[in-house]
Amino acid sequence: MLALRKIEPGVGGLSVDEVPVPEPGPGEVKIKVAYTGICGTDLHIYNWVPFAQRMQLPTVLGHETSGTIVAVGEGVSSVKVDDFISMESHISCGTCYTCHMGQANVCMNTRYPGVDIDGGFAPYVVVPEKIVWKQPEGISPQVAAMFEPFGIAVHASFKGRGMAGMNVLVAGCGPIGLMNIIVAKALGANRVIATDVSPTRLQQARDLAPDAVIDVSNGNQQAIKTIRDMTRRNGVDVSLEYSGAPQSLALISEVTVAGGELVMVGVPGGETLVNLETWLLKGFDIYNVHGRRLHSTWEQASKLVLDKKVDLEQLISHVMPISEAPRGVDLLLKGEGIKILIEPEDA
Ligand SMILES: [Zn+2]
Ligand SMILES: [Zn+2]
Repeated sequence: MLALRKIEPGVGGLSVDEVPVPEPGPGEVKIKVAYTGICGTDLHIYNWVPFAQRMQLPTVLGHETSGTIVAVGEGVSSVKVDDFISMESHISCGTCYTCHMGQANVCMNTRYPGVDIDGGFAPYVVVPEKIVWKQPEGISPQVAAMFEPFGIAVHASFKGRGMAGMNVLVAGCGPIGLMNIIVAKALGANRVIATDVSPTRLQQARDLAPDAVIDVSNGNQQAIKTIRDMTRRNGVDVSLEYSGAPQSLALISEVTVAGGELVMVGVPGGETLVNLETWLLKGFDIYNVHGRRLHSTWEQASKLVLDKKVDLEQLISHVMPISEAPRGVDLLLKGEGIKILIEPEDA
């Protein structure tokens, strides 16, 4: 079967080539892939950031997958052949203290399809039974492939006091930031304000019609003024930070009201500077969001999609066959496109 793999360490090293079709072992399921989305993580792997360097190459990439179960290994009981599913990307260990305390989404032994085991840029993928989410009727295969990233925006939006009635800043408009604009509106935020530095992303954000989209490529001054004007000088109740950029961290410190909430999603590369004194004196509640809650986030995400509170299809910028996946990666590296879905070619 034709698969997109990372075959060499270092920047680049992607290859589309023939690999054997995998078969499920005990506790595993074999999925016939419908679509797999290209994620920022795939771009990090392309760029061979420190996180990626633990990979045993070659590895089939891809973890944002939807598809149908076509075979199950010994002992699989929660799903069956012909079930239509989305993949959760975190394979938690299930046995450590963190997992036992109900926080499996931050298990430090987590493994990921497309990183630690072969992933979904292929006609078939084999994963542990416990990371498949059986989709109810009525979710399209393309939207199902977006549940993994969408779940992060949903998880972030249900932190703390949530979105209803709040003035909300989404700082950073990559695909998940854009999804968060959609979720914040769906959950009844009072004001939704978005910032970014890229003209393409700013336009993509405007297309979702939040209350304001502010270009911060020349610094934070305009954003600070606009946000004050829009919130009767109070500032926002909650900032959802998706960029990890120091300038953006400075912005949320400034424009979040004292006693408000910071929801941190974007990951800075290594250590970074924040004005912790401001964060402490303003008494922010600070939440870290990594992955999705298992499985409350999946339930919330399903409700939002099935009951048509959100439209994720508007974020699909391209659908490409696997042979063109490297071009899709290139497009995203150049800052073009939003969510690119890869469709397998027959095995
Ligand atoms: Zn992802
Ligand atoms: Zn664990």
